[in-house]
Amino acid sequence: MKLLVTGGAGFIGSALIRYLIAETGYSVVNVDCLTYAGNLSTLQSVASDSRYAFEKVNICDAAALQSVFERHKPDAVMHLAAESHVDRSIDGPSAFIQTNVVGTYNLLEVSRRYRATLPEDQQQQFRFHHISTDEVYGSLGDEGLFTEETPYDPSSPYSSSKAASDHLVRAWHRTYGLPVLVTNCSNNYGPFQFPEKLIPLTITSALEGRPLPVYGTGQNVRDWLYVDDHARALIAVLERGTIGETYNIGGNSERQNIVVVRTICSLLDELVADSKNRPHEKLITFVTDRPGHDQRYAIDAAKIQRELGWKPLESFDSGLKKTVEWYLANREWCAKAVADRYAGERLGLKT
Ligand code: NAD
Repeated sequence: MKLLVTGGAGFIGSALIRYLIAETGYSVVNVDCLTYAGNLSTLQSVASDSRYAFEKVNICDAAALQSVFERHKPDAVMHLAAESHVDRSIDGPSAFIQTNVVGTYNLLEVSRRYRATLPEDQQQQFRFHHISTDEVYGSLGDEGLFTEETPYDPSSPYSSSKAASDHLVRAWHRTYGLPVLVTNCSNNYGPFQFPEKLIPLTITSALEGRPLPVYGTGQNVRDWLYVDDHARALIAVLERGTIGETYNIGGNSERQNIVVVRTICSLLDELVADSKNRPHEKLITFVTDRPGHDQRYAIDAAKIQRELGWKPLESFDSGLKKTVEWYLANREWCAKAVADRYAGERLGLKT
């Protein structure tokens, strides 16, 4: 069985593809246009596998997408390609609308037309799995959890573009009968994440003795999921999810941002005992809050656990330690990933 994975050179997509090739029998065609966030070195371990192929294609290019479908004849699509960084969406929403909304529309249309050419039994088996975020639900107060029934209320250009794409995917199911699945997941962390997001940015900045910017008071709460747990959840939904349904995916690991940053600092104090930047906590700097910053995200993942038997295997403490150790062992990867792309500067201030 062949899966067409979009965004496979990104953080989650590459973890998914490494998992698919190492742990399952699927073949994978990775469709990625390699933006600043795409990095083929994340896929070095699978690059020469006969079950893996790469197509450098922008999902906004419908003709190129159609050619990929015709040549590779996928049995299912797992759609992860997106512009994914909230702060960048504040500075430049256009790319988010293009890729997340228009690109998703293209992929839906190409998938629908391609599926119509398949024999009946393959049409029945075809799946379009859209990978989305819990940020579409907006912000929670101190209490409560996002369920699959929570109304959409996105705050940022990023989350609103993902909300729009979720709606398109559901509409292509209801209107055209495309067999879709939607998953909305909380914040991921783990190896190979581009060092602009909170956890890798904090680790890489602390190692270099740079300030550790914490937005506002640092009391915003996120639920954290280790990226390999997300990969397992996505495969469970693809294989056993009910067509047309949405599944929330979360890690049962709510933490205030300031707690995450302090925990990373303590881990670095412990793991880099000879660092001249110890105690790393002294590098913490509170900075102007993100415009429209959601206060709290928290996921009720009971449905995927109940119906598909998935639950996270990694605890936040063990996953964070593994992640910090990975960044310590892969400083060269980080330096190359950001070279000429990102120097750690503050983004998303609405200038
Ligand atoms: P990422 O930014 O690390 O990777 C995105 C990938 O998509 C990159 O490889 C990039 O080159 C590719 N891409 C971007 N625009 C493209 C285009 N027009 N055509 C083809 N490829 C393109 O993102 P990620 O963190 O791996 O997130 C993957 C997906 O999961 C996204 O859809 C995101 O919304 C969703 N998600 C992310 C998180 C998280 O915490 N990172 C949480 C929930 C959901």
